[in-house]
Amino acid sequence: MTKTVERWQTIRSAIHAATEDAGRQANEVCLVAVSKTFMAEDIEPVIQAGQRVFGENRVQESQQKWPALKQKYPDLVLHLIGPLQSNKVKEALDLFDVIETVDRPSLLQALAKEWPKITRKPVLFVQVNIGSEEQKAGVGVKELPALLKQAQELALPIDGLMCIPPAGDPPSPYFALLKKLALEHGFKQLSMGMSADFAEAIQLGATFVRVGSAIFGHR
Ligand SMILES: *Cc1c(COP(=O)(O)O)cnc(C)c1O
Repeated sequence: MTKTVERWQTIRSAIHAATEDAGRQANEVCLVAVSKTFMAEDIEPVIQAGQRVFGENRVQESQQKWPALKQKYPDLVLHLIGPLQSNKVKEALDLFDVIETVDRPSLLQALAKEWPKITRKPVLFVQVNIGSEEQKAGVGVKELPALLKQAQELALPIDGLMCIPPAGDPPSPYFALLKKLALEHGFKQLSMGMSADFAEAIQLGATFVRVGSAIFGHR
C-alpha cells in the first residue's frame, strides 16, 4: 500500500469518527480528495483504493490530468474548487461534475449562456467570502441574496454553498455562519472544512469536506 493510500484511509476513519461524534449518518459527509498539483500516478492508487470524488482548483491543469482517468474510471466525480474565469466556463462545464466556486454576476451570465447547450448539467455551489477578506474569491455575505436572485432569474440551479475561512482565525464561527446562510436560503449542501479543520466543519454541518495535503502530502 502506498503512503498516500494509508493517509487516505486514516482521513476516511477520522471523517467517519467526526461524523459519528456529531450524531450524523456516515453517508451525510462526502470526502472530496483535493489532488491539485499531483500527477495521475499519485492519484490513481487512491482511485484504485475506492476514492471516487476529487477536487481540483485549475481548469487547465485538470484538462491535462483527468480526461484519461475519467475514461478508465467512468464513475469519477470531479469538483472545481478554484476560481473560474468566464472565458473557461465552456471547458469547466465539459469536465467538472460540480462547480463549487460560482461567485459573481458576470460568471452567472457566462454560465447561463452555455447552460441550455449542455446535456450533462453540473451541480453548482456558490462560494461565499465568509470572512469578508479583500483579496479572497467568493460573493460577500451581504451580496449573496442578490446573486442567488440573479441565478434564479437566469434559471441556473444552485444546490449549495462553499467557503474557505480566513487563514489563522479559528474556523468554527465561519462554518456556523455558512450553515446559517444555507438554512436561510434552503440549501442542504455545504462544502467546508479542509485538512486542518474538517472535524469542526463536520460538527457544524458540512456535507462535503475538501481534504488535500493530509492525503497527498505537502504541495
Ligand atoms: C487546496 C484546497 C483545499 C485543500 O486544502 P488542504 O489544506 O491541502 O486540505 C481545499 N479547498 C480549496 C478551495 C483548496 O484550494
